[in-house]
Amino acid sequence: MPVLCGLPLAELTQALAPLPRFRAVQIFKWIARGVLSFDLMSDLPLSLREELKGRFTVCSSVVAERHIDNDGTVKLGIDLANSARIEAVLLADAGERRTACLSTQAGCPAGCVFCKTGSLGFMRNLNPAEIVEQFLFLREAAGGSIAGGSIANGSIANIVIMGMGEPLLNLAELRRALAVISDPQGMNFSKRRITLSTCGISEGIIDLADKGPNLCLALSLTTACEEKRKRLMPVTTTQPLARVKEALAYFQCKGGGRITLEAVLLGGINTTSEDAAALAEFARGLDTVVNLIPWNPVQGLVFEGKALKEPSAREVESFTRQLEELGLKVTRRYRKGRGVMGACGQLGQLSPT
Ligand code: SAH
Ligand code: SF4
Repeated sequence: MPVLCGLPLAELTQALAPLPRFRAVQIFKWIARGVLSFDLMSDLPLSLREELKGRFTVCSSVVAERHIDNDGTVKLGIDLANSARIEAVLLADAGERRTACLSTQAGCPAGCVFCKTGSLGFMRNLNPAEIVEQFLFLREAAGGSIAGGSIANGSIANIVIMGMGEPLLNLAELRRALAVISDPQGMNFSKRRITLSTCGISEGIIDLADKGPNLCLALSLTTACEEKRKRLMPVTTTQPLARVKEALAYFQCKGGGRITLEAVLLGGINTTSEDAAALAEFARGLDTVVNLIPWNPVQGLVFEGKALKEPSAREVESFTRQLEELGLKVTRRYRKGRGVMGACGQLGQLSPT
């Protein structure tokens, strides 16, 4: 049966035809409130609720596991209708603000050697409903809208599309999901508070610049030493850095804001002065901020025969200083969620290690 919660309002209206549009708006608002059962949609006539139950489902996936870290991070294991499992994470920032981290694929085809998700291989793209549902489940975990209440996103201040998968390899479906999440008549989540992180698919960046939505963009650069990058991130063999940079420049010239250059720091691998110089060269001419992410451990991951390791505190300090001396703005990513394997790059393994 068709699933309603991933449909933008115009598509929902079409799907519900011949029902009048105001019924679609009522249902759209119920879904935005987190009401995922027709039985609870109290302003629909009982007979209509019964009819709808025979034609549609509201929601397709279920929360199968919930892990809560001591630092407040919540990781949900979500079973999709075809039984694949994905994960979505609620990160606790300073104070009451939370960030929802969403997945766009089950597994990932990019194969980055340092990433748990990459080591799983690729299963399939998520559809819009499966992306919207993650947001609704996390919002409920954050104490936002509960069935019957008003539409409120609770303490979720930001969304990051940095969970499992490469979002720009599933852009069409993601775009529809974001249309639902940001619709002012529904969940009304501001696009300016959504950040998409990509390993650098140039065609996707250009498509995003041309057709929106107008989000914040982050590039997982890892290193700007091209040969090394290809070995660490196999997908980039067909994505030369020069072309990625051109795409980023185009994104900015079309009105996109400052771009975050993310570099996961792998002990002894990408923290050399050559990496710092190449990074500064790559950033030249773009409006960027560099975000350094000390590698979060994932057992069993190796690079060219050697086990990956965390960078030492000194290594991180020294690399940060080198970048700053080269004139770059640098921030450091907090390491939330490690206790539940819910930190960056650790998704895809449900039992905490
Ligand atoms: N596929 C997208 C978004 C998901 S990965 C992308 O690659 O950008 C989100 C971020 O986690 C990326 O910046 C990636 O480099 C980083 N990452 C992957 N594995 C990691 C690990 N084990 N520790 C720390 N960061 C990691
Ligand atoms: Fe995929 Fe991102 Fe992990 Fe690379 S880092 S394998 S692109 S999820």
